[in-house]
Amino acid sequence: MSCPDANERPHAVCVPFPAQGHINPMLKLAKLLHFNGFYITFVNTHYNHKRLLKSRGLDSLNGLPSFRFETIPDGLPEPEVEGTHHVPSLCDSTSTTCLPHFRNLLSKLNNESSVPAVSCIISDGVMSFTLDASQELGLPNVFFWTSSACGFMCYVHYHQLIQRGIVPFKDASDLTNGYLDTTIDWVAGIKEIRLKDIPSFIRTTDPEDIMLNFARDECIRAEKASAIILNTFDALEHDVLEAFSSILPPVYSIGPLSSLLNNVSDKRLNAIGSNLWREEPGCLEWLDTKEVNTVVYVNFGSVTVMTNEQMIEFAWGLANSNKSFVWVIRPDLVVGERAVLPPEFVTQTKNRGLLSGWCPQEEVLGHPAIGVFLTHSGWNSTLESLCAGVPMICWPFFAEQQTNCRFCCKEWGIGVEIEDVERDQIERLVREMMDGEKGKDMKRKAVDWKILAKKAASRPSGSSFVQFHKLIREVLKGKN
Ligand code: UDP
Repeated sequence: MSCPDANERPHAVCVPFPAQGHINPMLKLAKLLHFNGFYITFVNTHYNHKRLLKSRGLDSLNGLPSFRFETIPDGLPEPEVEGTHHVPSLCDSTSTTCLPHFRNLLSKLNNESSVPAVSCIISDGVMSFTLDASQELGLPNVFFWTSSACGFMCYVHYHQLIQRGIVPFKDASDLTNGYLDTTIDWVAGIKEIRLKDIPSFIRTTDPEDIMLNFARDECIRAEKASAIILNTFDALEHDVLEAFSSILPPVYSIGPLSSLLNNVSDKRLNAIGSNLWREEPGCLEWLDTKEVNTVVYVNFGSVTVMTNEQMIEFAWGLANSNKSFVWVIRPDLVVGERAVLPPEFVTQTKNRGLLSGWCPQEEVLGHPAIGVFLTHSGWNSTLESLCAGVPMICWPFFAEQQTNCRFCCKEWGIGVEIEDVERDQIERLVREMMDGEKGKDMKRKAVDWKILAKKAASRPSGSSFVQFHKLIREVLKGKN
């Protein structure tokens, strides 16, 4: 890839929402743009940048002069236990406090003689405050919604759910009395969907609920974006993607970004990492000692929390399945206390279980020893599993994870859902997925999806590859 002089490069300012599941895909996109000739400014919050430096070290972030990191405050005090901020507080805080800091940053960048003028802004779909600043400067502002297309489509319909009086719920009993099984058939591109499968922020009786209103308002703001980016691919979510064309600005589906990034062979670029937790070593070496398709990988991502009772049920379900497992337990996984597993469980499984605090997930999923992924159905985790051809046992926690789980289980045929966190059920599902006919069928389907994902993103004729270059041509370089 030929590099123009630094000052002639288009300059993209990338603004992720300050949480792991948003930073990861944004960083991948930023790397791809850099590889395609862009100067990149990647904007973290002070807090997350400090964590990145702690987990990755300064060298991993400072390798490329034309790929720089800047920071703005998130407006919140640091949490007591290092980890993800309370999500509603973070949404509220970023949307109400970040804009002036962001304006100052743009002005600083535009006044530095060694830096090309900012030419476009790519912000997370839930960091839409950037729109005010981009409009003032007459710059294109693209929103990157880091959710699935099906999840995003449901968010886009929040305002209709509210207008039709379906949401907020009339009574708290609606959460348990079967109301969530109500099916609606007017979400564009989705034939039918239960309220249960719509992103979880509708599960409130409070008309002022922060997340319900925030998600609705961010989707309304999405109508003003220059374009929208999704980390998915046409073959996976064709109907939903097609339905966006009459609702929103142009949508570019350019995923899986990790597959697009496989075409990039720049060591310094590849060395830039985004883990906010320090990766524990040894996981891949441990997996090397295991047979193909024999290990259950358990990881609930960066935000999901559970009760101590639930963690204990997961533990005994895994132990009783008699399968080997890798289980990643963040220190803040259990609500309100430090996660501590029963000592008998640890002793009983010590020869076949590896416990870790944080791991290189994409590499773990790509390891041939992994047979199934017990996941919270975050979109990155779902896509990473699909790209590795690994079927899933889904335990969606919140947000659009419910929608992802539904699509995995019912549309894509690569997942089963945990209804109740109860040891017998966990044991049964693990056995079924690892040894049963259903599990084998899902494994085959997951491998089929893996091939389609590769086709979409790794070949110049693939749908995501084509869309990515179209995005650069039509939107991101439009002002140069
Ligand atoms: N991740 C990781 N190591 C871990 C746990 C998570 O690298 O031990 C990464 C994972 O690969 C994914 C992201 O963190 O890219 C989690 O995003 P996801 O959307 O799945 O869930 P969230 O954390 O946002 O709930």
